[in-house]
Amino acid sequence: MIQVDEALSISAENSTKMPIQKIQVHKALGYILAETVYSPIAMPPFRQSAMDGYAFIHSERHQYDVVDISQAGDHSNIKLNENEAVRIFTGAFVPHNADTVVMQEHVMANEKSILITRMPAQFANVRNKGEQIGPEDVAFEANTLITPAAIGFLACLGITEIEVFKKPKVAILVTGNELVKPGKKLPKGKIYESNSIMLQAALETIGIKKTKVHKVKDNLKATKKALKEILKENDIVLISGGISVGDYDFVKEALLENGVEELFYKINQKPGKPMFFGAKNETLVFALPGNPASSLTNFYVYVYPAIKNRMGFSDTHLPKLVRKLNSGFTNTSGKTLFLKALYDETHVTILDSQSSAMLNTFAIANCLLIVPHDVEMLKKGGLVKLLPID
Ligand code: AMP
Ligand code: MG
Repeated sequence: MIQVDEALSISAENSTKMPIQKIQVHKALGYILAETVYSPIAMPPFRQSAMDGYAFIHSERHQYDVVDISQAGDHSNIKLNENEAVRIFTGAFVPHNADTVVMQEHVMANEKSILITRMPAQFANVRNKGEQIGPEDVAFEANTLITPAAIGFLACLGITEIEVFKKPKVAILVTGNELVKPGKKLPKGKIYESNSIMLQAALETIGIKKTKVHKVKDNLKATKKALKEILKENDIVLISGGISVGDYDFVKEALLENGVEELFYKINQKPGKPMFFGAKNETLVFALPGNPASSLTNFYVYVYPAIKNRMGFSDTHLPKLVRKLNSGFTNTSGKTLFLKALYDETHVTILDSQSSAMLNTFAIANCLLIVPHDVEMLKKGGLVKLLPID
């Protein structure tokens, strides 16, 4: 059995980046850039007015003749004289030798002339050409996450296509004779199947949508057969249940018989000990414990960073926070613990019910507090590390 840190480095080593694809900018939300993007143009492409008002050559003079109008989208080669101004609007081209725009609220105007009642500083209200970015300047470094703002910025530079890392295709295989789909009547001895929908939701938080769910009974032949196809078609396979040591746990055997290489099995932690991690070609397999809280814990600790690695993220792990513990805690298990807890700006409180079979506490927790396997005593007020999940 290996320690958590070892398991994490094995999964990091094996979660290689996905191949690169070209993608239309409007479809790129949530992808990670695989290239450095340079701006093809200056932005703004010309000197723009930042206000509705009047453009003029700054001087001591307060009175100007209005000789032209510059609306957004217009362009003219007009050259102003010292006593002349141009009526101008936000985003419009500023005439070549004008250096300042006075906002319209600060003038008294008639059709032909203006009197500036509050003189702006020279160069006020003019956005310079290339003020935001110059041609050939770096718009984005590689490994940047494409957010709505990034999409907007790329579009305003006229860029329509970028290179990103493909998103991995993820499938979930759920095992268990006892499982019934929520919404159906619950026969005696059965429970509702909750891991698939929970894992799908967790995947959505990192931009993996429409994950296909497959289901099999606790049966070696059926598990083997299902896995054969799933392994061929996916970059990442998550399996729920059937990976422990019970007589009806067939997942490990089915994986090995399908040519999946075992990279580790069982981790010295609680919850989430019976987990298998393996690979077949480029496809990674995480066989997660069936107990719902174990399953989700291991998703956050192992699956989440591995998928983010494959997607090209530069920061793959949940950020580690440090807080003061609200009450003492003893760990005599010799295992690394991931405890459901609630943190605020300064402190963290370990929640009461920590069963791996129950999600009630997980559902209100906002973090997992990490107790390393070799730490026996945590003192009240001592600093502890936690993984935020909110
Ligand atoms: P297993 O890992 O298959 O031994 O399952 C461990 C526990 O988790 C058992 O109590 C199962 O009934 C439960 N369990 C397994 N899979 C699921 C699932 N998909 N949804 C909810 N509970 C599950
Ligand atoms: Mg089972």
